Amino acid sequence: MPTLAATATTTTIHIGLLVLTLAAVTVGYGLLCWLYPFGHCRRCHGTGRRPSPLGRHFRLCRRCDGDGRTIRPGRRVLNYLRALHDKGTR
Ligand SMILES: [Zn+2]
Repeated sequence: MPTLAATATTTTIHIGLLVLTLAAVTVGYGLLCWLYPFGHCRRCHGTGRRPSPLGRHFRLCRRCDGDGRTIRPGRRVLNYLRALHDKGTR
């Protein structure tokens, strides 16, 4: 049975590495959302302008209101959790 014990140990190490990697990625993204809450708008690529339907002029991007930045989804979750916490403590 030594081969089965070695196989079980290797699988446990792989699961442990996967859990550690996922935890590191999650903490890193949470830190990024905490430090830099805004990211580039994906629709206008951060320019704040979109070409008009005829293609001759530009107009403001409706998704970011011409700002070129949008709030990150992770920051939206943090804001929701903070509002939930504030609502619960009052
Ligand atoms: Zn935009």
